Amino acid sequence: MNEMQLSFPARSENEVFARNAVAAFALALEPSLDELSDIKTAVSEAVTNCIVHAYRDTEGWVTIRCRAEDDRLDIEVCDEGQGIENIEKALQPFFTTQPSEERSGMGFTIMQTFMTEFAVASEAGAGTQVKMRKVLKRAEGA
Ligand code: ATP
Ligand code: MG
Repeated sequence: MNEMQLSFPARSENEVFARNAVAAFALALEPSLDELSDIKTAVSEAVTNCIVHAYRDTEGWVTIRCRAEDDRLDIEVCDEGQGIENIEKALQPFFTTQPSEERSGMGFTIMQTFMTEFAVASEAGAGTQVKMRKVLKRAEGA
């Protein structure tokens, strides 16, 4: 088992850093290129949500915690931003609270599709926590 934790300010330039840092951590599990790409895409969507929704035009921190064990990678992406009022609604494909700002409302749907397990917890005014798990399909004999 291995773990890591990472915190950084919610700025758009840190999105690339975050997804590559998680990918670098995930490499020890020997994921396929497709699996690595799925993980990077999911992390990218979760971090982008912290930047554009949780803190909007204010400053704040994003924390990512990862745990690698056997064939699985657990990732938590947390913010202490404005939170989500209605999670059920937010999870629906194409639902977005920022339709005018080139958001398509597909971030959560992408995370759910690309990861094996997905859950979101949030409290209005307190922040949001996205938990994702990727179970890797290991090649025979690898
Ligand atoms: P896209 O991801 O396609 O650019 P989007 O970000 O609006 O569009 P989702 O990522 O699915 O779509 O998120 C849906 C909605 O959930 C957002 O519009 C926003 O209202 C809310 N939301 C998501 N993440 C957070 C967060 N970390 N803090 C506050 N609200 C969030
Ligand atoms: Mg999004």
